[in-house]
This record gives sequence, structure tokens and C-alpha cells, in this order.
Amino acid sequence: MSTSTAPFDAIVVGARCAGASTAMLLARRGHRVLLVDRSRFPSDLRLSTHLVWQPGVARLERWGLREQVARSGCPPIVEGTVDFGDFVLTGRVPPAGDVEEAYAPRRRVLDTILVEAAVRAGVELWDGCTVDGLLTDGDERGEPRVTGITGRTGGRTRVTASAPVVIGADGMRSVVARLVDAPAYLERPALNGTWFSYWSGLGLPHSTLYVRPYRTVAANPTNDGLTVVGLNCPVDEFRRHRSDVGGFVTRTVEECAPELADRLRSGTREERWSGAAVPSFFRRPSGPGWALVGDAGYVKDPCTAQGITDAFSSAELLAEAVDDALRGRRGWGEALSGYQRRRDEAAMPMYEFTYAQSSLEPPPPEMRELLASLAGDPDAASGFFGVFAGTVPVQALFGAPEPASSAA
Ligand SMILES: Cc1cc2nc3c(=O)[nH]c(=O)nc-3n(C[C@H](O)[C@H](O)[C@H](O)COP(=O)(O)OP(=O)(O)OC[C@H]3O[C@@H](n4cnc5c(N)ncnc54)[C@H](O)[C@@H]3O)c2cc1C
Repeated sequence: MSTSTAPFDAIVVGARCAGASTAMLLARRGHRVLLVDRSRFPSDLRLSTHLVWQPGVARLERWGLREQVARSGCPPIVEGTVDFGDFVLTGRVPPAGDVEEAYAPRRRVLDTILVEAAVRAGVELWDGCTVDGLLTDGDERGEPRVTGITGRTGGRTRVTASAPVVIGADGMRSVVARLVDAPAYLERPALNGTWFSYWSGLGLPHSTLYVRPYRTVAANPTNDGLTVVGLNCPVDEFRRHRSDVGGFVTRTVEECAPELADRLRSGTREERWSGAAVPSFFRRPSGPGWALVGDAGYVKDPCTAQGITDAFSSAELLAEAVDDALRGRRGWGEALSGYQRRRDEAAMPMYEFTYAQSSLEPPPPEMRELLASLAGDPDAASGFFGVFAGTVPVQALFGAPEPASSAA
């Protein structure tokens, strides 16, 4: 790898579900794209329990990549159980188009499939390269216009590259967002934290979620015959138990889900504990010469498992906007402000719903009654599952969210 002199049409920083997808989609539209990541692929992402709901899988299908996920040995998830203690809902998520299954592929599997698809589409990949600065030129709307990146490789070689747009797909602590000082809006603190690890030998037939006041425990099958098991609890407890995660999770699962605790005892934990507490916020996702996609531009609590699916959908919206601007069909300002509008409109109901769920408060009595009435009726329960999966609008079951204010 060396300093590039020929300009690219777009530079994407971060090569996982948001960045590799955006780069691939732009390259498939005929653009010359540089994709940069400090990781080397295949590479795992420790902080994700990686459930991809049906709308996310439908995008993989549209991009020709669903079959590769299925062939990776990751079991399809077609049925689920949500156990509320005194009643249990069992059912299937209503499909997204003809996609009936979700998957929880390990990130080293999913992200590598995406990176390889990007490279096949003609993207130039600089992995093992950390971006540490932006090139700028002139001034637009009181902001310097971004024209490229600076970075360093593992061997400390300095590199630079230039393009009319630099896309930050570098996660919630985005360096690109920090360097352009992207304003945040609708910011909210983390209300819960997640501890999770991977077990062999659990023999769980399908995806399972236990919901108790101020706790949820989730188990999903993933690659290599493993099951990812995660516990959500209020953020102060999450922090308090850092020094004894194993003991805390074991005690809590025994209280909330004794039959899962039995399975955990007879299985084997194969990996160390990982954990995170995630705040919620949007960032203004564009300015002169730059744009943000995925967690770099919009983050919410992982309790509804929407991050990967949202990264895919934002990648499609941004690739369309950047393609329009590069081909002169729309000016950059119009194309990228349209991207922000479409992203926020699509995201807002789930953003509010997710934040409400992230408190882990027990549902109010009338909601509990409604949910209990779905037990024993898999068709009715599937509407409830569909809200979490994103195949049934939040409003259909829970009413319209409070109107959002203060977009930057
Ligand atoms: C505990 C937890 C559980 C979760 N569970 C789920 C789930 O079940 N389902 C779901 O859909 N979502 C889940 N999420 C959310 C999901 O992980 C994120 O939404 C998703 O990873 C965002 O993808 P991204 O491509 O935007 O960013 P990331 O996946 O964070 O990727 C960013 C990339 O940018 C690279 N990078 C960063 N800085 C630089 C730099 N300076 N130079 C070069 N490269 C850089 C990084 O190396 C990384 O590869 C979970 C999150 C957490 C914390």
C-alpha cells in the first residue's frame, strides 16, 4: 500500500456492515471507491450480538449475499419464543418480502462476506490502515470542504488519498465525525448494559428471549454450533458487576430463566465475556465533502437488535444520494440533505420504541394484558415479533411515537 495520487470518487472509512455495503453499492454503480479500515479481514467485532432481522437479510438477498450467509453454517432463525414468566409467546416473524428467516452470523463471517463483495465489485481495500486526519480545501457554508484522508499503516507508513466525498462508516466513536465536528441531536444516555458470551452444547431449538422486570436474557444460534447468550440489566448494575460478570450472569439467569440456566450448566462457555452500554443519538450525517453512515451517524440501544439492519438501509440511501451527486443529477447539498431526511424518517419510530424498551421497565398492566392475550395464538404473536424485527410498523401495535424535535 502506498500514497495514492489518482483521486477516487469516494473514500469510505470503516469496512463493516455500513462501510463495506456503501462501498460495494457505489462500486456496483461504476464509481472508483477506496475502502479503509484499521482492522485486517477476516476480523471479529467483539461488541455485537449480531442478530440480523428479516429486513436486513432481505437486503443481503437483494445484494446477492444471502446465500453466502446461509452457507456459512449459521443456522436460520425462523421461530422464536418470548417468555414473560407467567405467559409465553411463540411464533414467527412476518416475512420481509419472501425472506422468512433471520440470522445471527458472527461478525467475522458477515463483515468478511461484505468486504469480499466490495472488492469483487472493484473497491480498493486498504485494511490495516488507521485514518487519523482529513484533507480540506477552501470553505463552504462556513465549514472547510473535506477533500481526502490521511492515515498510517501498521508499518507506520503515512498515506493520503483524495476524493470529492469522504464517508465515515467508522462506528459510534467515529473519527470522521469528530474531525468534522458533526453536531449530534436527540442525544440520550444509556439506560442498560449488555453482558454476553458464547456457549457450545446448549441444544436450544430456536431463538429465545426471557423478559423480566429490569432484565432480559436472549439466546440465539450462531456459527460453529455456538449460541450467543446475552443479559441486559440497568446500566448501574451493569457497571457494578464488572469485576464478577460470570457470577452475576449465572445468578441472574438462574432467577429469570431456570431452564436456560440448566442448559448453561451442561454446556461450555467457549469465549470470554464482552459487554457494552450504548447511548442513543443521531449525528448530522453530511457536510461539505463528507457524509456519515451506520453507527457513525445514528446509534441506539442494541436491545431491539436494529444496528446492522439500519446500517444496511442507510448504506442504500447514501449510495443512491452520492451516486446522484457524482453523476450531476442533483447537487451535493440537495442529495445529502435528502439522505438525512430519508434516514431520519425511516429511523425515528424504531428509535423512540427502542429507547422506551431500553429502560427494561415492566410493561404497563394494559400492555401486559394485551400481550398475554396473544399467548397460544402464534399468528397474533407474530405481529408482536414483527415490530421488533421491523416487518410490522411500530405504530401498528404501540401507537405513534412522540414527535421528535431538534434535528440539527
Ligand atoms: C453489545 C452490543 C450488541 C449488539 N447487538 C446487535 C444485534 O444483535 N443486532 C444488530 O443489528 N446490531 C447489534 N448491535 C449494533 C451493531 O453492532 C452496530 O449497529 C453495527 O456494528 C454498526 O456497524 P458500522 O459498520 O456502522 O460500525 P462498526 O461495526 O462499529 O464498524 C466500524 C469500523 O470502522 C473501523 N474504524 C474505526 N475507526 C477507524 C479509523 N480511524 N480508521 C480506520 N478504520 C476505523 C473499525 O475498525 C470498524 O471495523 C449491537 C451493539 C452492541 C454494542
